[in-house]
Amino acid sequence: MDTKCPQCGSGNTGPSFIFDYDRDDAGRVIARNPFFVCAGCEHTWQVETVMVVAQPFDPDDEEAINAFVEAVNREVLDAD
Ligand SMILES: [Zn+2]
Repeated sequence: MDTKCPQCGSGNTGPSFIFDYDRDDAGRVIARNPFFVCAGCEHTWQVETVMVVAQPFDPDDEEAINAFVEAVNREVLDAD
């Protein structure tokens, strides 16, 4: 995934958090327009994209949402 920081141009970025998500019948998480954060300048911005993560979680469980973010990070690393 090519998601560069719009502020400093760094490629050292990753998913930060998500407000809009669903789970499909297979238990995958469909995340719409996630927020990314830059590790260089800590700028946060929203990316107009849809990410699918094959890891079920309980949307009411904050710890599980953190696990979701870690899972998305792995997805991004795998895509490189
Ligand atoms: Zn940056």
